[in-house]
Amino acid sequence: MMKAVRGMRDVFGEEMATWQRVEQIFRTVSAAFGYHEFRTPMLEHTELFARGVGEGSDIVGKEMYTFLDRGGDSVTMRPEMTAPIVRAAIEHNILRHQPTSRLWYYGPLFRYERPQKGRYRQFHQFGAELLGSPHPEADAEIIMLAYETLRAVGAKLIEGVALEINTLGTASTREAYREALVQHFVAHRSTLSEDSQRRLDTNPLRILDSKHPDDQSLIADAPALRTYLDEAAHMHFDTVRLLLDAAGIPYTVNDRLVRGLDYYSHTVFEITTTQLGSQNAVCGGGRYDPLFEMVGGTPAPAVGFSIGVERLVLLLEQMEGGLQPPSRAQVAVIALAEEARLPAQLVALRLRRDGVSVITDVQRRSAKAQLNAAVKEQAQYAILLGTDELAAGTAMVKNLATASQETVSVERISPYLQQHLGVKAR
Ligand code: ATP
Ligand code: MG
Repeated sequence: MMKAVRGMRDVFGEEMATWQRVEQIFRTVSAAFGYHEFRTPMLEHTELFARGVGEGSDIVGKEMYTFLDRGGDSVTMRPEMTAPIVRAAIEHNILRHQPTSRLWYYGPLFRYERPQKGRYRQFHQFGAELLGSPHPEADAEIIMLAYETLRAVGAKLIEGVALEINTLGTASTREAYREALVQHFVAHRSTLSEDSQRRLDTNPLRILDSKHPDDQSLIADAPALRTYLDEAAHMHFDTVRLLLDAAGIPYTVNDRLVRGLDYYSHTVFEITTTQLGSQNAVCGGGRYDPLFEMVGGTPAPAVGFSIGVERLVLLLEQMEGGLQPPSRAQVAVIALAEEARLPAQLVALRLRRDGVSVITDVQRRSAKAQLNAAVKEQAQYAILLGTDELAAGTAMVKNLATASQETVSVERISPYLQQHLGVKAR
């Protein structure tokens, strides 16, 4: 039997209703904050991620789907969205036309990871990028947008998550801190976990993210980044905190939170849950002022976040106890006689044009089997067309819940249903 590629999921049936619900929320909340949707291609030049995300990151180091296309160019299935958005912003000169650009995205990403619950090789992110502002108001707006999205998804959900924030200061802070970390860890190299030994050479900050027991005591003794921050970085971070406090958004400061990518500066944040085992991150984000220049653009300040949609859907299913029923067709049009089969299709088309959701028979079944199918679909109304109705230009409209029925002229079916179903006339 042919199966889906490992780590890649089909979404259908009851689960789909949950996806559609959260997708609707992404649109509504982004619109409330004045963000515009942005779509980029699934494939980018490999160099974009090598330069933008960084060779030392886990993503570029070991998680990318990279291949040569037929023309011999190295392309990569996007493993994250920030670098593509920045590439597109530079390519289309977006900041020249719109010096403060508020963008959101939603779509699939690809990372070659070990699949497990909440971790897949194709997964989806909803996220936003605020381009063009160096000020803490922008960091706070992005955190609020992430937080408000989760709040809109579920009141219970927002109670079960924790927001952690930190600051990395400027690129030079990071550089100085990186050296201090290397000095600290290198003396105890052999006691570090294998992964962290590798990180010591490629991305020492990432050691602080390690959950490996062997690393914990050394991490606890590591120098604090705070002492390397300059005055401006302190002020920036204090203002972000002030704005979050004023908005009543609860958070904790975690000075070990670094995030694994090369492009962050100043504020970084993560929203986690205790409900998903070790796949505990629901949302990650931060300021990435260095990125525009890293991928070859004019420097520009920016900040953004992304939410993992599979993890959000899992959380919702766990918290709200079960899945939503898929949305059903409201009406079934049923042919009671052979010669009513074609007219039934036409009645259905007319109703669909008026915004009613309708199913018809495409299996040439008996009237009884059609009616059973309508009940199974949980349609609210059946429109019955027989020889007499055809001759009179009418149909029998049957309420399937009450079994009451009425004869309605064919032209009147739409307004009749719109009235009874509460569908808006187009
Ligand atoms: P993790 O520590 O779980 O690997 P990450 O730091 O790699 O997460 P980000 O790159 O910050 O994740 O991506 C943002 C969000 O995307 C994460 O918080 C998570 O919800 C989701 N995510 C990341 N990788 C996966 C994956 N392989 N499968 C499903 N969701 C993912
Ligand atoms: Mg990861």
